[in-house]
Amino acid sequence: MYAKNVWEKYKDRLEDVMSFNEGYKNFISQCKTERLCVKETIKLAKDNGFVDFYELKEIHLGDKFYIESMNKTIALFVIGEKDLEEGMHILGAHIDSPRMDLKQNPIYEKNHFALADTHYYGGIKKYQWVTIPLSLVGVVVKKDGSIIDVNIGENESDPVVGISDLLVHLSADQLKKSASEVIPGENLDVTLGSFPLEDEEKDAVKANVLNILKNKYDIEEEDFLSAEIEVVPSGRARDYGLDRSMIMGYGHDDRVCAYTSLKAILDIDSPKYTCCCVLVDKEEIGSVGATGAQSLFFENSIAEILALQNKTSLLSLRKTLMNSKMLSSDVSAGFDPLFPEVNDSKNAAYLGNGIVLNKYTGSRGKSGSNDANPEFIADIRNVFDGHDIYFQTAELGKVDQGGGGTIAYILGNYNMNVIDAGIAVLNMHAPCEIVSKLDVYEAYHAYKSFLLYI
Ligand code: MN
Ligand code: MN
Repeated sequence: MYAKNVWEKYKDRLEDVMSFNEGYKNFISQCKTERLCVKETIKLAKDNGFVDFYELKEIHLGDKFYIESMNKTIALFVIGEKDLEEGMHILGAHIDSPRMDLKQNPIYEKNHFALADTHYYGGIKKYQWVTIPLSLVGVVVKKDGSIIDVNIGENESDPVVGISDLLVHLSADQLKKSASEVIPGENLDVTLGSFPLEDEEKDAVKANVLNILKNKYDIEEEDFLSAEIEVVPSGRARDYGLDRSMIMGYGHDDRVCAYTSLKAILDIDSPKYTCCCVLVDKEEIGSVGATGAQSLFFENSIAEILALQNKTSLLSLRKTLMNSKMLSSDVSAGFDPLFPEVNDSKNAAYLGNGIVLNKYTGSRGKSGSNDANPEFIADIRNVFDGHDIYFQTAELGKVDQGGGGTIAYILGNYNMNVIDAGIAVLNMHAPCEIVSKLDVYEAYHAYKSFLLYI
């Protein structure tokens, strides 16, 4: 159904909507990093009968398995009736979110404070990340290969950290600067402590912080050289609005589409076509690296599955990919009544109006966009209408206003049909983003109907 308020559909079934969203709130509250998303995904997959692909000797209709790489990207599969070469139905989302990462030599002392240097990850408005409670979440890998999970700030009884900003009373000069310069990137330094270590002469506050880390995690300062510690907004996702119709939380982009895509594949059995849900890292910095969508991880995974069916030719792999269809499950910019001027109101995404199809994202002359084929969009309209799925279409803001990218074009390179389909978000890339619970629930149903019926 095109451009209808999903409220009408669910007004008698709000309990379902709310309980589904409780599951989602737990997911984003626990999974503040891509590694934690992969860990939780494996747990949920196992609970739903999925096994590690490398435990399988052969493949049969209805088999459910996952392939994971480097603890940061994962693909889940449910084998369908049709030959794999006839193509798969793929949902792809990213599980990385904007944040700050501790530098490799992070900790220093200055004017009786211990601080940590960071480098921000993804597109952020730096001024939004100061004076809020932050957590340190990630891993430290020691020289012997042992991986130590670090999590400070997520437990209610934990301390939090944060980045300071200048008091307004002394901000005459700062307030004359443009918003992009108010907080320089190099000033996004996290305050770690202010107590000195007793009997320590030099950098006693830093020494005390290192001592605390040594006692808690058995790590030395040098171990930060091989660490991935992400500085993320602290605390759980919360209901937003007096009517609890929305969720405020960190990382909706794109964990909201990751969770709904994941739930969709967990809930299907013996589909016609083989179904896949792939969750990738590094989208926010251009889908680069070994765990980003541009890596060969996904292609290699398909080759491995084909090899178990004794299909080892390059042509088999190419056919499987070319004949596949994909929803690039990524969020859309929700229409904000406080900033109507950045959107063309009839081609904007509204919270509560269902899943959003973006034929193209991109910027300026659609640069960097996938620009989905109308034949494919027609098929999707047909499936969505046939299964009572409410959807809307949108682009990312007014022409010449800005733009953005997703992983859609990368899978499009295989000559497969791909379109961006996701959930509208307010405050995108801010420490706290907003989604509508109705859209979350509707996206889950949309993804499921795509897997089963396209
Ligand atoms: Mn995204
Ligand atoms: Mn993003």
